[in-house]
Amino acid sequence: MTIWIQASLLTLQANTKHLNVTLNGGVFIFAKLCYNIIMIYLDHAAATPVSSKVLKTMEPYFTDQFFNPSAAYLPAKKVAAEYEAAKGEIAHAIGAKATDLVITAGATEANNLAFSAVGDGKVLYLETEHDSVRKVAEQYDGKSIRVLSNGLIDMDDLKAKISDDVVLISVALANNEIGVIQPLSEIAGVIRDVKFDRLKRGVKTPLYLHSDASQALNLLDISVARLGVDLLTLNAAKVYGPKGVGALYVSHDVKLSPVSYGGGQEKGLRAGTENVPGVIGFAKAISEAKEHLNGNRKKYANLRKILLSEIKDYELVNKKHALDNFVVLCFDGIDAERLIYLLEDKGVYVSTGAACAASKGLKSHVLTALGLSDSQITGSLRLTLGETNDEEQIHEAAKLINEAVASEKARING
Ligand code: PLP
Repeated sequence: MTIWIQASLLTLQANTKHLNVTLNGGVFIFAKLCYNIIMIYLDHAAATPVSSKVLKTMEPYFTDQFFNPSAAYLPAKKVAAEYEAAKGEIAHAIGAKATDLVITAGATEANNLAFSAVGDGKVLYLETEHDSVRKVAEQYDGKSIRVLSNGLIDMDDLKAKISDDVVLISVALANNEIGVIQPLSEIAGVIRDVKFDRLKRGVKTPLYLHSDASQALNLLDISVARLGVDLLTLNAAKVYGPKGVGALYVSHDVKLSPVSYGGGQEKGLRAGTENVPGVIGFAKAISEAKEHLNGNRKKYANLRKILLSEIKDYELVNKKHALDNFVVLCFDGIDAERLIYLLEDKGVYVSTGAACAASKGLKSHVLTALGLSDSQITGSLRLTLGETNDEEQIHEAAKLINEAVASEKARING
């Protein structure tokens, strides 16, 4: 094993037999794996590597083009214009304008900002939402909307819970544990009817639809108009862009409160010097994602099919309505945490669900909401496909997963 130590900003190409990915960052130690050790990364819902094209686009803005966009001289004004153009590119990918976006430090912050629309009103959120929605909804005394056993929103429960004081409804476009895609335009239709009814009865409370689209950008063609959303969260870190960069689309009639106060950047809603390289990288990443949407969907559908046909003795948790790159398998009676460690030993990286919940050993609220038993939840493994995967890797991963499950069964049966 060779150890490389590099300081300052750098780019490393890790060309192992099964991984070809560009790594970037500050000071770190990189352990280069021997050529006979495989690495198969199947956790793209947790993080995606920054693509080499994205990294290349960002680089000048760390060095030559380092200027503060708020400064008065010409080179800074040029950077400010490029920042705005990048925002325009991000907005264009969802059918919006640069002025509709507030750039944030990731999806968590965008979700928190979206909830500032609530004021003194009430909120509803889907029970399977990511913690960055659930926890902020709790601050507003939010009520959850149930899902059906297939993970889709229970429309009857939604309709029953929209009381006259509800201001915000938050439903993720695609779930981060099971990839289930919600029928947002149908939900927007229900909201339109409620708004019309409120108007007729003289009820002045506004009603907004917010959606967290963090996981969907790679696989769905997103248009805010088609979805019928008032607020939409985007996340660069899930589309081969940099971590800690996100955006909130805000429709013109929604009033928000600042997440930070200071120099008035981002229309005064999120003060602080703009993350120019991050936004430039996000724009490139989202444009790349949009360009390769159809090819990626086909690729992941094929890889998913291979996994499902070669892995043995599982029950598929996300049978329908899921993003093509999400495969959630239940090995009832097995501890999936143990499978993760066995697979890690073989160079295969998978997860049991949301990275933040899994790291705290919490039981998945998403799988609980689907009605899975405790032993089914314990036995569930999330595989999320991405650009680093190919067919050869997937055959190998299926074989290694079968071996890990067989060895766990043998251990349990003594
Ligand atoms: N929302 C969803 C659906 C996610 O999957 C994630 C991250 O996993 C987040 C929000 C939080 O994103 P970040 O950690 O970039 O703020």
